[in-house]
Amino acid sequence: MVRNVIIIGSGPAGYTAAIYASRANLQPLLFAGEPPAHLDGGQLMLTTDVENYPGFPEGITGPEMMDKFLAQSKRFGTEVQMRSVTKVDLESRPFRVFLGEEVHESKTIIIATGAEAKWLNLPGEKELHNRGISACATCDGALFGGKVVGVVGGGDSAVEEATFLTRFASKVHMIHRRDQLRASKIMQDRALSNPKIAMEWNTIPEGYSAKEGKHGPSLAGVKVRDTNTGETREIPMDGFFMAIGHKPNTDLFTGVLDMDEVGYLKTKPGTTYTNIEGVFACGDVQDRHYRQAVTAAGTGCMAAIDAERWIETQH
Ligand SMILES: Cc1cc2nc3c(=O)[nH]c(=O)nc-3n(C[C@H](O)[C@H](O)[C@H](O)COP(=O)(O)OP(=O)(O)OC[C@H]3O[C@@H](n4cnc5c(N)ncnc54)[C@H](O)[C@@H]3O)c2cc1C
Repeated sequence: MVRNVIIIGSGPAGYTAAIYASRANLQPLLFAGEPPAHLDGGQLMLTTDVENYPGFPEGITGPEMMDKFLAQSKRFGTEVQMRSVTKVDLESRPFRVFLGEEVHESKTIIIATGAEAKWLNLPGEKELHNRGISACATCDGALFGGKVVGVVGGGDSAVEEATFLTRFASKVHMIHRRDQLRASKIMQDRALSNPKIAMEWNTIPEGYSAKEGKHGPSLAGVKVRDTNTGETREIPMDGFFMAIGHKPNTDLFTGVLDMDEVGYLKTKPGTTYTNIEGVFACGDVQDRHYRQAVTAAGTGCMAAIDAERWIETQH
């Protein structure tokens, strides 16, 4: 059986594409990735409260929100399989999608495989995720009103995150392993002239200390080492943000789909078209700038509409 649409990925982008495609009567098949961890439901499975998604004035937990996305896509007939795609053949027509030896054929493919924030993965780090340690200042910055926080990284997005955090925090330590930032000149000037940002040059994080509270442990400080002197110390802080980059999940498409130098899929501006007709990309996998649930959902909607209209033109 040749499908109309196969969707790869189960975050806000994939499920929104599924809702629209199923309501357009395209009977999509969605491969969600494999549980446990965040492989089925996307990055929001890693977070506690989502406070900025419209329609949830009281907030909602990430996993609860993704359950609702899943239920809504199934309600209109999406077939969801909690399995990972291992290979794609985008040169054949119909396209072929592999799960090990198993092959599925489809007229169109929607890629919504997301991206992963890079973490330092220091000892004790995982236990403090959502307990002071975060990979998204836009999402969690407001939790740190009047508190001391830190950002690790030295590129444009690290400066952006640090500057954004100064809206809430009383002080932002920018921890960078070199003696100058990689960020563009204008971004550097912005960081260096901000009185709330303290630059911690030639410094690398090595571990964490935690404090016990009513709701369990939370971050109390980051242990750092000076790369020149080898001296170690602890910087007390309540929040610590990773800004050391993201890795888009695009290994499956290397050499076939156009990507930028980091591996983000390239789409035709204003659309979800990739360089191969009939293959569409949506969500974080093609977005290095916004990386939000609502923008991922928005482009998921676009991908389903693009796919549906493209199928129409093939008669
Ligand atoms: C800790 C944290 C907190 C966040 N908080 C917020 C917030 O409060 N508000 C907000 O708007 N945004 C938040 N974000 C960002 C938000 O999670 C992302 O922008 C959004 O999830 C992107 O959606 P997506 O559908 O593009 O991809 P993802 O959510 O990354 O989902 C992609 C899915 O595709 C699956 N996949 C990958 N490869 C395969 C394969 N080969 N086969 C099958 N499946 C595959 C992945 O396993 C994953 O399930 C947060 C991010 C993090 C990391």
